[in-house]
Amino acid sequence: MNNNTRLFGISIATALTVALFAPIHSASAATNFEKPCRNADYVKQQVREALGENLTQFELRSFDTRSFIRGGVTRPLDLVLPNEKNEMVKLRVSVQKFPGRVKDLTAAFLKGGETRARAIKLPREMNFQLGKCQKGNPTCGNLAVVGKQVEGFVIDKQIGFALFEPVGMLMKRHGMKRWRGDRSCHIVYNANFHGPIPLDDIRGDKQASRSGKQGLILTGKQVAQDLRRSLENVGNFLIEPANAMPFPTHIPIKLDSDATFYSLSPGTVWSRQLSVINSVRIIYGLFEPLTNADWSIIFDIEGQESWLPGYGPTTTDRYDLLDEINDPGYYMIHHPDNNEVSYFFVGYDMSGGIAGVAGGICNYPGYDDTFGSDEEHQDNHAWGQQVEDVDSGYEFSTLYGRIIVATHEIGHMLGASHSDGCTGTTCCAAGLFSFMCGNSIMMSAGAGGVAPDFRDPFFTPDNSANIKACVDDVY
Ligand SMILES: [Zn+2]
Repeated sequence: MNNNTRLFGISIATALTVALFAPIHSASAATNFEKPCRNADYVKQQVREALGENLTQFELRSFDTRSFIRGGVTRPLDLVLPNEKNEMVKLRVSVQKFPGRVKDLTAAFLKGGETRARAIKLPREMNFQLGKCQKGNPTCGNLAVVGKQVEGFVIDKQIGFALFEPVGMLMKRHGMKRWRGDRSCHIVYNANFHGPIPLDDIRGDKQASRSGKQGLILTGKQVAQDLRRSLENVGNFLIEPANAMPFPTHIPIKLDSDATFYSLSPGTVWSRQLSVINSVRIIYGLFEPLTNADWSIIFDIEGQESWLPGYGPTTTDRYDLLDEINDPGYYMIHHPDNNEVSYFFVGYDMSGGIAGVAGGICNYPGYDDTFGSDEEHQDNHAWGQQVEDVDSGYEFSTLYGRIIVATHEIGHMLGASHSDGCTGTTCCAAGLFSFMCGNSIMMSAGAGGVAPDFRDPFFTPDNSANIKACVDDVY
């Protein structure tokens, strides 16, 4: 809570020092992620050991969070980020506040028993939209301040999908208790170099139509999609406007986490929850209008809570955890109501290479429990693992993994399905993000339970329509 105050204090001290010793530099805006970390070779080796083949290319660069905050945080930000060939590319992006929390949410809750919780005054939220995310200027991303570091991403035609996050925290997610390297050091990487993430799965998903759409064999659906995409490239927005669904549609979301997630770094527990969901908010709220142009969903964060050590879920079984958090008697201060969702951050390794599971799915054939019509508020809780996958060796502790999984699981709850996803070189985002190709967000794990190489944060037109049908039906 005092972080901001303390950071500000340090900033003043730094400003004075800079003014005294380096008056020339104090006026020029620094390009972030340009400067290498201290002891970069050593750190690089540590990161390679932790991530292995799951992230084959990355860079280690410092970000001056203090200057960013001191600079008023609304000036354009100069960044250097890796493109799909891992070449560092300069980019200037606009910055604007993009808080995920609703204004009247001022307290979080730490749960220390089945009926006991302590209210904690929430620190000011420091989250920003990067880029205009508009038709004429579709560069778009998110930046969250987490402690004294930042994490986020940018999607841009020049660079593709690039991400950044603090190395120290990533090492903690990989079991390193005390990381003593350069605290300003961030790992910057392009999603192109991220290895496979196995993604599941709604409960009892029968399915998973084997990913038979790969390669050059085009299905009728893909041909239609390609045709639609080329139409969109000409006109950008040829699709009929959303019908009953307001634009944007606001859906409340309640955040929750287990004790090990809390213990990773108690001082940043709330901002770590926010960072992931704020990235998801950009994808649902701002990307979708630039791709399928069907709808825009803004998730309003209306609750933040966590279990304290010694309390709350500890099971490593995917469905036991799902049952526990979806049980009517599960203790939450801000319980998600009908037509609301909840996301549970797991800070330990679930058994098997599974990244997350969604509670239910909207209007899915064979499911009685429908998002919104479920009277006992059930099946609207999903979970996502936030740390190293020790037993199966997949990678979803990175920001890439964490936001892709959250977007996917929440997609299920709003009606998106694996079988309406796509993969392969012809599987691309619609509209202004048509340079993103390879794997849509809902593509099924398919044969062998491993997703194809990587996944991009866009919905296919079919899944976009599924979500629209679900939300139109519910609201
Ligand atoms: Zn899934």
